Amino acid sequence: MAEWPKTKEQLQEAGYSYVKLGICAFRECSAVIVWAKTPGGKSMPLHRLLGLHGGPATWEPHFATCLPARREAEQRRKDSKGDVTQQCLNLQDPKSTT
Ligand SMILES: [Zn+2]
Repeated sequence: MAEWPKTKEQLQEAGYSYVKLGICAFRECSAVIVWAKTPGGKSMPLHRLLGLHGGPATWEPHFATCLPARREAEQRRKDSKGDVTQQCLNLQDPKSTT
């Protein structure tokens, strides 16, 4: 995610394409978003950031800043996978993958 945010031109160069306008599904947020298709063919919600210091407007993945979405992702992690740190340790240990 280090390359974000990007300008529209950078997104197009990277292989992202515009799909349609949308509204964030979380009612608490309801931000206007743009659905884009990633180079891998997945749908990704983006939102627009105003350009700083007169620079061009940029876009970033909406879920990086959407609070309700982040809260739900956090909750899902707790519900389904238990301790995240433990998961990371397991992944690094080939003996534990059965
Ligand atoms: Zn949102």
